[in-house]
Amino acid sequence: MTRTAEPPVPARALLPVAPPPMVWSRLRVLGRRHGGALITVIGLYALAALAALVPPWMLGRIIDAVRASADPERIDLMAALIVGALLCHAGLTLVSVALSIRFGEAILAELREAFVRAVLRLPLGTVERAGSGDLMARTGRDVGHLSHTVRHSIPVMVVSGVTVVVIFGAFTALHPALLLAWLPSAAIIWTSTRWYARRAPAGYLRELDTYSELTQGVTDTVEGAHTLEALGRQDRQRERTDARVRGSYLAERYTLWLRTVWYPTLEFSYLLPTAVTFLVAAYLHTQGALTVGQIATAMFLAVQVVRPLDLLIDQVDSLMMGFTSLRRLIGVELAEEDVDATTADRGTPGTVEISNVRFGYTDTEVLHGVDLTLVPGERLAMVGPSGAGKSTLGKLIAGIHTPTSGSVRVGGTDLTGVAPEIRREKTILLSQESHVFRGTVAENLALALDREAVDHDVLWRALAAVDADAWVRSLPDGLDTKVGSGELVLDPAHVQQLALARVVLADPEVLVLDEATSLMDPRSARHLERSLAGVLEGRTVVAIAHRLHTAHDADRIAVVEDGRITESGTHDELLAAGGSYAALWHAWHGDT
Ligand code: ADP
Repeated sequence: MTRTAEPPVPARALLPVAPPPMVWSRLRVLGRRHGGALITVIGLYALAALAALVPPWMLGRIIDAVRASADPERIDLMAALIVGALLCHAGLTLVSVALSIRFGEAILAELREAFVRAVLRLPLGTVERAGSGDLMARTGRDVGHLSHTVRHSIPVMVVSGVTVVVIFGAFTALHPALLLAWLPSAAIIWTSTRWYARRAPAGYLRELDTYSELTQGVTDTVEGAHTLEALGRQDRQRERTDARVRGSYLAERYTLWLRTVWYPTLEFSYLLPTAVTFLVAAYLHTQGALTVGQIATAMFLAVQVVRPLDLLIDQVDSLMMGFTSLRRLIGVELAEEDVDATTADRGTPGTVEISNVRFGYTDTEVLHGVDLTLVPGERLAMVGPSGAGKSTLGKLIAGIHTPTSGSVRVGGTDLTGVAPEIRREKTILLSQESHVFRGTVAENLALALDREAVDHDVLWRALAAVDADAWVRSLPDGLDTKVGSGELVLDPAHVQQLALARVVLADPEVLVLDEATSLMDPRSARHLERSLAGVLEGRTVVAIAHRLHTAHDADRIAVVEDGRITESGTHDELLAAGGSYAALWHAWHGDT
C-alpha cells in the first residue's frame, strides 16, 4: 500500500450521513434566522479592520513628512492618530468577538437541540442495527468538531476574511499594480487548496466512520466481556480490535498526509508576495507613482495580511471537518425518514396479523415464514426452545424490527413507517431489562404518559394492578421517594413491577411481555400475571413464556421451533395432540 492509497471504508451498516444539499439548506435556514446578527458582526469587524489600516498608512505619511522636513507638530498629530486607531481597533475587536461568540453559541445550541430531538426519535431497531457505538461517536466526536468549527473557526474566518478584503482594498487604493505581486501566490494557493479540498472531505468522513466502528467494537467488547470470556474468544476479539485500530490509523494517516502536502505549500505562498511587493513598489517609485513612504505602507500591509490570510485558509480544514460532522449529525434525522407521521389507518384495535414473515439480524435468517393472527383481547403464550426466535417475533410485533419480507399489522396498521408516538399507542414490548430513571417513583411512572403532571390516584391504581402498591406505600415518601442511581436502589423484582405499571398506564392495544416477570419468585409472578390480566382486560397480550403456567393460563399457545410456529392451540388441545408442547409440559411437571 502506498502512502497515498485511500484506506478502506468500514463495512458496517452505520447510521446515515446527510447529503451536502441537505446540510446547505439547513445552514440557509439558520442564516436567515440569524442573518441580522451576522451582518452586525461582519460590519463591526470591517470597522476594526479599517482602524488597523491607519498605522501603516500614517507610518508611510510620517516617513514622507520627515523626508520633506515637515512641521514636527504634524508628525505628532499623525503619531497620535496611530495610537487612537489602535485603541479603536482593540475596542471594536473586543465587541465584535463577544458578539460573534454569542452568535456561534446560538447556532450551536440550535443544531444540538435538533440532533438530540433526532436521536430521541430514532427507531429502536435502527439503533440496534447501527450499534450504539456509532451514536456515541456522533454525540462525542462529531458534536466536538462542530463546536470547534462554530465557536472558533467561523468567528476567525469572519475576522480574517474581512481583514483580508480591507487590506487588499488598501493595496488597490495605493496603486492597483501592487495586486500583481499576489498573482503567483494566488495561483499556488488556489491549486493546492483545490487539490486538498477534493480529497479531504471523503478522507475525514472515512476517518470519522472508523472512529464509530472502533467505539462500537470497544462498546461491544466491554458489554459482552463475560460472553467472550465464557467462549474463550478473547484472542479473536483482540484481533478484531487491532484491525479496527489499524483501520482508524490508516484513515487518520491519510488525512495527515494531505495536510503535510498542503500546509508547506501555503507557507511558501505567503512569503513570496512580500518579496515581490517590494520589487513592484520599488519599480513604481522609479516611475514616480509611489513615494518612499507609500512603499513603506505597502510593505507593512504585505506583512500585515499574512496572518489573517493564513488563519483564513487554515479554517478551510476545520470548516470541512465541521461540515462532515454536521452531515453525520443531520444524517441521524434521516434514519427516521421512512417514518410517516401521518395518522395510522383505522383497523380493528388490538388485532395482530402476521403473514409470511421472514427476518434475520444478519444474513442468517432467524424467522422462516411465520403466519399468526390474534383477535382483540386474545392472550397468546409463545413457548419453545431457547434461540427458536420467540423474542425476535415479539420484537417484530412491537415494531422494533421490520420484517425482511412479509408483513406485520397491528390494529390494521403496518408498523413499518409509523411514527414512534403512534406505534407506542398500538404496541409495547416489555422485556426483562427495565430501567429506573433517577427521579421520584411518580416521575418514573409518568414516563409512560405524554403528560408530566399526573393525578396520583391514577398512579396508585396502576401500582395496585401490578401488586406494587403495598411496597411503594412503605417507602419513606411514597410516590415522591427518590429512586435510581445515587438514590434508593430498588430490587430487580420491584423494578419489573414499576415497568409493568408503566405499561398499564400506557395502555397499548397490544402488549408483548418477554420474560417480564422472570425476576420475581414464581408465586408472585403468577399472582401478578393474574392481576395484570384483570387490568388488561380486552387488551391483546403476547407473553413469551418461560414458565409453563403462563402458557396454561393463556387462551392459546404457539410453539416456536427453529424460526417457525410448529403447533398452535389451547393447553388441552396441545396436550391431547401429544406433540412438542405435550412433551415440554410433561417434562416440566416431572411426569413421563
Ligand atoms: P428465543 O427468544 O426463542 O430464545 P431469539 O429470538 O432471542 O430466540 O433468537 C433467535 C435467533 O436469533 C438466535 O439464533 C439468536 O442467536 C439470534 N439473535 C437474537 N438477537 C440477535 C441480535 N440482536 N443479533 C443477531 N442475532 C440475534
